[in-house]
Amino acid sequence: MINFDTDYSMTIDGKPVFTDKTHPVYNPANKTEIATVPDCSEEQLNATVSSARRAFRAWSKLPLSERQQKVAALGELLESNAEAFMALLTREQGKPRYGAEWEIYGSAAWLKEIATQTLEVEVLEDNAQRKVITRFTPLGVVGAIVPWNFPLLLAVWKIAPALVAGCTVVLKPSPYTPLCDLKFVELAQQVLPPGVLSCVTGVDDLGKWMTSHPDINKIAFTGSTETGRHVARSSAETIKRVTLELGGNDPAIVLPDVNLDTIGEKLFWSAFQNNAQFCNATKRIYIHEDIYDEVRDAMVRFINENVKVGDGADQGTTLGPIQNSMQYEKVKEYFADCKSNDYKFASGGEIDGDAPGWFVPVTLVDNPPENSRIVAEEPFGPILPLLKWSDEADVIERANDTIYGLGATVWGEDLEVVQRIGEQLEAGTVWLNEVHQYSPHQAFGGHKQSGLGCENSIHGLLEYCNWQTITLFKA
Ligand code: NAD
Repeated sequence: MINFDTDYSMTIDGKPVFTDKTHPVYNPANKTEIATVPDCSEEQLNATVSSARRAFRAWSKLPLSERQQKVAALGELLESNAEAFMALLTREQGKPRYGAEWEIYGSAAWLKEIATQTLEVEVLEDNAQRKVITRFTPLGVVGAIVPWNFPLLLAVWKIAPALVAGCTVVLKPSPYTPLCDLKFVELAQQVLPPGVLSCVTGVDDLGKWMTSHPDINKIAFTGSTETGRHVARSSAETIKRVTLELGGNDPAIVLPDVNLDTIGEKLFWSAFQNNAQFCNATKRIYIHEDIYDEVRDAMVRFINENVKVGDGADQGTTLGPIQNSMQYEKVKEYFADCKSNDYKFASGGEIDGDAPGWFVPVTLVDNPPENSRIVAEEPFGPILPLLKWSDEADVIERANDTIYGLGATVWGEDLEVVQRIGEQLEAGTVWLNEVHQYSPHQAFGGHKQSGLGCENSIHGLLEYCNWQTITLFKA
């Protein structure tokens, strides 16, 4: 029986490991310490990687169908403990119940669906003289490094394909949100052989030790573009494979014929889901000048009538707090920058410094300049610029004028125009008249400095494999 409220141990070689040195974890809704977790030493990481390498020998040789069954069984296990995971996720991350439900049941669904994906051998030639095939072999030990916004889902996006491919995994959660990951990996030991899936926690150097570790073959990383650059540099030393899922500055383009009755709500959720702590949140909205005022006012109305910011554990909360003090301070800078430049707020704008948790009001910035920080950077918090456009070619250029290329949306009634604009946007996912639709079978990744490689789909699965060509001369 797993105790979700206490005993947060690392799992190394199938066994619980505690350390004398620990670090605290806080509930962001009230800033109280809710747990302490181990601080992994370099020796402990080395032992973890050695156990993952030992486990790889047998795990990689299991028939694919057995690995698929075990990954699907992890999905079942998660589902049968969903209530406990949802409560823990809200406590450590801050998201309200519906968000926790989406993440925990989504993680379970991902495990079960990725478990249906297979790696087919490609037969390129097969005749009396020769046979030539390309097959896909697992890379080895994977270091999975994840952020604090979707701590379990983004771990599962790495664990599920890695295990199906035949790799073993060492997971490192964010120090801000390690609890669900620690408990998930503890639970997974009921299904997996020792060393196949481990979890280590720590601050500062642990990520660096992983990216430079000679016996880790691949780093699957989700986090900021800045950290992604460190990961790429450090991994280059041992020519590790890397998948990088990084930051974004997703534009939304709103056309003059959009349905004004529904667009306010849709744009609100595209930007503020998960309290805007979402790589794929809409981070700039370009509204046609003819309908700018109506769309802005519709968003303000929706916020005033429907949105309650509060403790995710309270019923009726729409958006929770900022997850941690570091991010809270960063988001505050954007408020200060807007104020010092006299940008207008259409909603919000005032942070209550005496609130019990790291709370920030939902804030709309009314038509700031294109080169302002709030437009050019990724705030990763609930403050969103609304901008005007009039010329189609110009708005496409402005939307693409960024180092990022993660997602983009276009909203309008004329589907031909919507598609014409969508196809010119430089982003890994372009949603047309919808947003935040993900699937285990849909490739997800960033263009430009939003990432390298992809997750999900067969393309994502193949990122855990070497390709190997075998030729046989028969006669
Ligand atoms: P972060 O880059 O600070 O940290 C991510 C992870 O990397 C954490 O586990 C952290 O401990 C670890 N880390 C820190 N320094 C490291 C180093 N030198 N080497 C190795 N690992 C290191 O990101 P964050 O603040 O946790 O998350 C927010 C960022 O993540 C945002 O920029 C957001 O856009 C991005 N993100 C991207 C995606 C995506 O799929 N593209 C999804 C979610 C979040």
